[in-house]
Amino acid sequence: LNRVNDPPRKPLRVVVLGSTGSIGVNTLDVVAHLPDRLQIAALCAHASWETLFAQARQFSPRYVVLTDATAFEQCDRSQLPPCTQLLFGPDAVAKIVSEPDVDAVVSAIVGAAGLTGTWAALEAGKLVALANKETLVVAGSLVVELARKHNARIVPVDSEHSAIFQALTGHGAHEVERIVLTASGGPFRGRTRSQLEAVTVDEALRHPTWRMGPKITVDSATLMNKALEVIEAKYLFALSLEQIDVILHPDSIVHSFVEFVDGSVLAQLSPPDMRLPIQYALLYPERVSGPTKRLQWRELCSLHFEQPDRETFPALNLGFEVLRRGGTCGAVLNAANERAVELFLCGELRFLDITRACADVLASHDYLVNPSLDELWASDRWARQEVSRWTRLQHRSPTP
Ligand code: MG
Repeated sequence: LNRVNDPPRKPLRVVVLGSTGSIGVNTLDVVAHLPDRLQIAALCAHASWETLFAQARQFSPRYVVLTDATAFEQCDRSQLPPCTQLLFGPDAVAKIVSEPDVDAVVSAIVGAAGLTGTWAALEAGKLVALANKETLVVAGSLVVELARKHNARIVPVDSEHSAIFQALTGHGAHEVERIVLTASGGPFRGRTRSQLEAVTVDEALRHPTWRMGPKITVDSATLMNKALEVIEAKYLFALSLEQIDVILHPDSIVHSFVEFVDGSVLAQLSPPDMRLPIQYALLYPERVSGPTKRLQWRELCSLHFEQPDRETFPALNLGFEVLRRGGTCGAVLNAANERAVELFLCGELRFLDITRACADVLASHDYLVNPSLDELWASDRWARQEVSRWTRLQHRSPTP
């Protein structure tokens, strides 16, 4: 409340990694609404060059980066504004996030592929608005240590973790009893395992409350997303296994709770709209009027909660197993899941087999308790191959 008289500050210079995906597009919408507070320094996309170049024409960044070689060769550079330079590949990602005039990096590339850019941003001591939860699932201990060493800050964009971060503001770790992550339950909440045997890709992609990319939407349907978020929470907030719980909340209005040692529970509520956690991560701790939809209090008459069905959705148990064991487990679970979701989306793997494959691969991996980054990448590659092999074996075995 003492910020009212602060002098006007210059806009935060922001790099968006994954600017053409769902979080990236939402980030640019926030920036477009708050031009005196946020400015785009650089944008990075994998292959969607037409969208990327259109974004460049709107926001005039100094750099845009493509990470797909074919897209880089085939794109039409005449569609870029004259002020914007096109770069290619992982070295370019490291360059744009560590430029001296960059203040913040929104890490929104999906999957373990997002780790490299996040790592470079932390090494450069930037504020990282982290939407790429896989970064912490794969290499949580190393990433947290890196941020500490370089005095970099990680602020969550994931809606649940943003809610917890907001509720924790002004409080110390010793005041926290536990946190409760809310989960929508996805499109299959309330179904039995036998009802899930034959669900289609289209059904899995029909999320009841959130509009997101395909990978995270499938993760929400299996509850693997919540398993990954449990692991993400451990590293973001330095919590123990016993301090993290999950509750189903199909309305997606309460984005998570913090229970304090005095018995008080603080929650954060808002309509499901990623622009709010993105804006909060970038302008934290300040709240400004932005583009986010408002809760309609006159229409809000009840909120619903229920316990998750861990037998039908065992992915959640895998998250807690990874939390307990640590080491290489996060990298293996994440990579196994990424590959299994890819195979499900192209019709090679059935819905329930996503979690089955992950459980089998996690159980059979060569566990290391204190892996290096190279060892984590090796576990990641191994787990992807194992899921492909697991899938081929399923196809060979006679159907019951
Ligand atoms: Mg989330």
